[in-house]
Amino acid sequence: MSLAPIPFNKPYLSGQELAYIQQALRNGKLSGNGWFTQQCQQFLEQRYGIRKALLTTSGTAALEMAALLLDIQPGDEVIVPTFTFTSTANAFVLRGAHIVFADSLPEHPNVDVAQLEPLITSRTRAIVVVHYAGVACDMAAVMALAARHNLFVIEDAAQAIDGYYQQRPLGSIGHLAAFSFHETKNVIAGEGGLLSINDARFQERAEIIWEKGTNRAAYFRGETARYQWVDVGSSYLASELNAAYLWAQLEKLGTIQAQRQRQWEQYYQALAPLAAANFFALPVVPAYALHNWHIFYLLCHTLEERTALIQHLSARNILAVFHYQTLHNSPFYMARHDGRTLPNAGYYADHLVRLPLFFELTFTDQQRVVKAIQEFYASAASNS
Ligand SMILES: *Cc1c(COP(=O)(O)O)cnc(C)c1O
Repeated sequence: MSLAPIPFNKPYLSGQELAYIQQALRNGKLSGNGWFTQQCQQFLEQRYGIRKALLTTSGTAALEMAALLLDIQPGDEVIVPTFTFTSTANAFVLRGAHIVFADSLPEHPNVDVAQLEPLITSRTRAIVVVHYAGVACDMAAVMALAARHNLFVIEDAAQAIDGYYQQRPLGSIGHLAAFSFHETKNVIAGEGGLLSINDARFQERAEIIWEKGTNRAAYFRGETARYQWVDVGSSYLASELNAAYLWAQLEKLGTIQAQRQRQWEQYYQALAPLAAANFFALPVVPAYALHNWHIFYLLCHTLEERTALIQHLSARNILAVFHYQTLHNSPFYMARHDGRTLPNAGYYADHLVRLPLFFELTFTDQQRVVKAIQEFYASAASNS
């Protein structure tokens, strides 16, 4: 008898999505910046203290807008963690930047801020930080370092909606920040993202870049007599259909987060005895971070052990997955990298495994996952 599959992720449905999409159809406005777009933007601005929020087609698009706003030129250097998704670096590579990759902390996949200062040169323009698993980076240290060297800070908050650094919402601290509403994130739009603009200097131009290089948004507000091409830009607006879907989710943000917290803590408590017996390590959340329960992961002792654990779970119809392979030695960037080894990030690339975590995951499902992990380590212990 094989048990029903437990997927790694399943997109959350609040139940209002179709009704809101129908509403968008009735409104007769399907392109971007309509009622639902503005509803989502205002909600996020108010809830998270974001100066100006612009809904985009993806988190990737929001990062690309950030690179355009900073006017990154060929030869500029941008410091980016190596343990991240390709878009974090690729957005700046598209503008001709040279990426200087940074290592993770020993105790957490997030960037080790104490190791950043020696990476800064006269060509450095910006530091990008990634709040992995919705756990804050040490933002006070990042912002102080950037201020000392006159650099911009971009938060890749793709995973970090509703996460906090001390009392401050993630995505509201850097000069610019990018969120993602990809179906794998806590709150989704299918594909979607958001650029948050926290530095007033970028506000006007951000809207122009968002609207294909035109002053269309200002024109529709009656602020300019003509609607014309005034700068570079691209098609970064999300459609109203995606915004309508997203609004159905944002309305349930509290419910989503409460459920993920319950599930995350359930895994943590159930697995704590095995971690205490040193079979693997559990996630560490720094005291300055209030995380958003985006990812639950274990850290295995070796790559071989991780591969075997993933296989063991897969044989029981449970999908657990590893995560990023480091970007500095990726096929695309390896030859451009300066040769520094980044061992902490390498550790997370080889040892981290993510367990299923999604809204509909039941207590019984979680017990099945935990039991399968216990079985794996019981047999590992009796074999050694
Ligand atoms: C998901 C993700 C992205 C990309 O977001 P998309 O909306 O899929 O383009 C970028 N950076 C990180 C850290 C992510 O997790």
